[in-house]
Formats: sequence, structure tokens, C-alpha cells
Amino acid sequence: MYVCSNCGKKIDDIGKFVTCPFCGNKIFRKERPPVAKKMKAV
Ligand SMILES: [Zn+2]
Repeated sequence: MYVCSNCGKKIDDIGKFVTCPFCGNKIFRKERPPVAKKMKAV
């Protein structure tokens, strides 16, 4: 899962997209799947 840094659209497979298909931006950031962190112990 990648997120366009410009328009924020989520793209599952960026393999075939060199640029964002929505806005043409070329910069993406990887979005991690939601993982519940249990680091903070109360
Ligand atoms: Zn975009």
C-alpha cells in the first residue's frame, strides 16, 4: 500500500504506476498496515 504524498490517494500496487494516476505526482510514501502497538504499558 502506497499513499501519494500530494493528493493522498491510496494505491495498492504501484508497480505499474510510475506516477500517481490521480494527480501525476511521483512521490509516494509507504503506508504500513494498521498494527496495534502494545509498547506502552500503563
Ligand atoms: Zn496523487
